[in-house]
Amino acid sequence: MNNIKTRFAPSPTGFLHIGGARTALFSYVYAKHNGGKFVLRIEDTDFERSEKRFEEDIMESLKWLSIIPDEEVIFQSDRLEIYRSYIDKLLKEDKAYYCFCSKELLEEDRNKLIAENRKPMYVGRCRELKPGEALLKTPHVIRFRVDRTSGAATGFKDLIRNQHISVNNDEIDDFVLVREDGIPTYNFAVVIDDALTGITHIIRGDDHVSNTPKQIMLYNALGFDAPEFAHVSMILGSDGKRLSKRHGATSVNQYKKEGFLPEALVNYLIRLGWSHGNDEIFSMDEIIKYFDLKNISKSAAIFNTEKLLWLNSHYIKSKDPFVLINLINDIKDDFQPPLNIDIKTAALADSLKSRAKTLVELKQKLDFFVNEDIDYKDEILSEFNFGENDLKFLKSFREFIAGLNDEIFNCGNIDLTDKTGKENALEILKNSIESIKNEFNDFLSKNNCTMKEKAMTIRLAFTGEKVSPPIYEIIFALGKERCIKRIDKFYDSIQNITA
Ligand code: GLU
Repeated sequence: MNNIKTRFAPSPTGFLHIGGARTALFSYVYAKHNGGKFVLRIEDTDFERSEKRFEEDIMESLKWLSIIPDEEVIFQSDRLEIYRSYIDKLLKEDKAYYCFCSKELLEEDRNKLIAENRKPMYVGRCRELKPGEALLKTPHVIRFRVDRTSGAATGFKDLIRNQHISVNNDEIDDFVLVREDGIPTYNFAVVIDDALTGITHIIRGDDHVSNTPKQIMLYNALGFDAPEFAHVSMILGSDGKRLSKRHGATSVNQYKKEGFLPEALVNYLIRLGWSHGNDEIFSMDEIIKYFDLKNISKSAAIFNTEKLLWLNSHYIKSKDPFVLINLINDIKDDFQPPLNIDIKTAALADSLKSRAKTLVELKQKLDFFVNEDIDYKDEILSEFNFGENDLKFLKSFREFIAGLNDEIFNCGNIDLTDKTGKENALEILKNSIESIKNEFNDFLSKNNCTMKEKAMTIRLAFTGEKVSPPIYEIIFALGKERCIKRIDKFYDSIQNITA
């Protein structure tokens, strides 16, 4: 198909959530797969509920996910004049009419219909009214004149359900096009914008299925060609209820803050309702290559945090440590200083990355290194029966560290901003770790002990935790002085409990 154009049209009344991000992703990759264009339109005509910060969040989150519009972002609030001209056209052609019914009157009519067990709809009081100028100065809305010819129906073919959905016009209200404050409603503005910007495929949540016939009526009334429609099923929480804050994070920015990588989220979201054989791992390029609407599931998708974590650890593992450090520093955190982008931090990040499911977890695992002081918790120390032998071991271990050749710790002045610099750094790192490992094994055999016997003591001394990165990496990263300081402090702590 030629000239395919899709759009994502969020209202900036909240942060970009998972459901919206998935809709945007589907729209984006559908356009890209077909060599078409994707645009972003901010539907900000609800002035009371729209907020600048949400607008910014939506744009930033999409960018973070690499869902990049091909044209300048459109803001509906800039287009009020345009809507006005089309409303005038509809009024002139008698396809729309003014309605002066008060809220109270509408409410009364509504209650009557409900009492009679009928569908509450606008009863059409103003349908045939020809208001004069004086009346037009009083509060009013503008309604669409739905074709009431007996048996008239409006329908469309849904590309995901692969079925024709048709609604009897009797079921559709003479819906409001322009509110009392002169601002167009969603159903009106959306049609004008989609038509004028040449949108060929509208991919959106299935909560809009009931709006689509109204929009088709407008396309017909205005003489526009209607686009194709694809309504995507909802995302449910693991309890089968609609995904909401109760199920944990729902906004994209929250996932970012919690240490998820955009690749993981994109990969997760695309699989939430779309499949390509049994494959699970997809880069954006692969998604674009394989994406097709017909492989989107018709049923609701269940959100599964475990799977998202699994994908996230997959992508964390595949990153080089310098990139990981930058990503960790990218997570806004007012309480912690950024990590240093140096070879030592990289050594630890690299050795820890396979054990972290999120960047935040990785960052926490690096705390022992970032914090100058270690707190040896009594409840951890008391789990071990430290005695004279351990004190003796620590003394000789201290000597071993003090005696290590300073060259091992010397990383030189490597420029880590370019690829070669990073590669050199990683090479130095590998060699240093190898030297420490050899020296350490010598030390162990001289002292007639094994790594297995001593690992916990060393780990506790250096990190205060029972789980830590590999010991060689820690020694390299902390350097002689900090290692010795920690051994001394640990020595004192266990001496206190063994005394
Ligand atoms: N502003 C609407 C929403 O956020 C857009 C729906 C549509 O895609 O047509 O739900």
